[in-house]
Amino acid sequence: MNASPLRRLIAGFALALSLSALPAQAQDAAEPAPPPKPARWSIAIHGGAGTMTRTAMTPEKEAEYRAALDHALAAGTAVLESGGSALDAVTAVVTTMEDDPHFNAGRGAVFTWNGKNSLDSAIMDGATRKAGAVAGLERTKNPVLAARAVMEKGPHVFLAGEGAEQFAREHGVPEVDPSWFYTQDRWDQLQRLKAEKLSAYDVDRKYGTVGAVAVDNDGHVAAATSTGGLTGKRWGRIGDSPVIGAGTYADDRACAVSATGTGEFFIREGVAHEICARIRFTGESPKVAADTVMLEVGEMGGDGGVIVIAPDGQSAFSFNTEGMYRARANSQGLKEVAIFRDDGPGGIAPPKQPEPEPAAETPAPAEPAPAPKIVPQL
Ligand code: ASP
Repeated sequence: MNASPLRRLIAGFALALSLSALPAQAQDAAEPAPPPKPARWSIAIHGGAGTMTRTAMTPEKEAEYRAALDHALAAGTAVLESGGSALDAVTAVVTTMEDDPHFNAGRGAVFTWNGKNSLDSAIMDGATRKAGAVAGLERTKNPVLAARAVMEKGPHVFLAGEGAEQFAREHGVPEVDPSWFYTQDRWDQLQRLKAEKLSAYDVDRKYGTVGAVAVDNDGHVAAATSTGGLTGKRWGRIGDSPVIGAGTYADDRACAVSATGTGEFFIREGVAHEICARIRFTGESPKVAADTVMLEVGEMGGDGGVIVIAPDGQSAFSFNTEGMYRARANSQGLKEVAIFRDDGPGGIAPPKQPEPEPAAETPAPAEPAPAPKIVPQL
């Protein structure tokens, strides 16, 4: 018996449906499991900014600093390559640099007016926005470990002086005799500063603070900074390095930042938080946000630089000095060590041009000049 046209139509429709479903099922079964998420760690470090020029540095000194940066970078990449956290990576870098007399942090720190080493450090975890900071340490071998203990083991964020040292001691952070921090060069710098009535910058021509920012395979960022501050500092002066939001900041929603430079200006600008806020609220890239904020620091009269890392792995350097000890690496095989402005990433766009004065007799104001463009230089 012949099926009615209506039944034939329904049967055909059902067959078409089942046929269209089959290839999809077959395809699902054949589809390979999605590849594991690619590792996407990234790290950037600095050892200070200043008048590092090819003419002012011997090839031997240059090689020494490149090796020191390479060594510190390797400490951080080893952590990230083996699946470690951004927090552990920045801790590894900064402890390595604190132990290295080339830098103004831990061993090799500058001397205060009273001939002591007074050490400041901060660390911040972008995943939780927990932070720890210490200032005025004189015996803690690695101030970044004291900052980390404050972050992880106590109710506070910022401890200073003898109390900070006592807290660190009680939490097992190693101490050394203060002579551990002594280097002849730094001592001589203090004597010159006093004898010739120089500023800290004139006697050193650079800011030698150290710092690291990193993002790990889970997309968490962290920042750490450590410093001896400025040669000849007195009256209990504390710079930007241990001030959360000024010299150090980390927030998974934006970026991680570590700074070096004239601390007073970095505190007044709130540099590290300002860069993160620009990224978060305007969608600027790390490089554009860092350049913009560094231009503002320059306009106020400050100088120095920053390193920035975003959760997507982008890293940026920005500095308004002639050079910056810096290095970076990522899981895609990038590895750079740089000192001078022209031998690697960084630097900032030329300073903003002042708006031209409108001519007195001009009846209507001309079109406003376009905003100065920040040239991204990744
Ligand atoms: N920013 C540091 C401070 O003002 C100095 C430096 O970067 O070397 O203490």
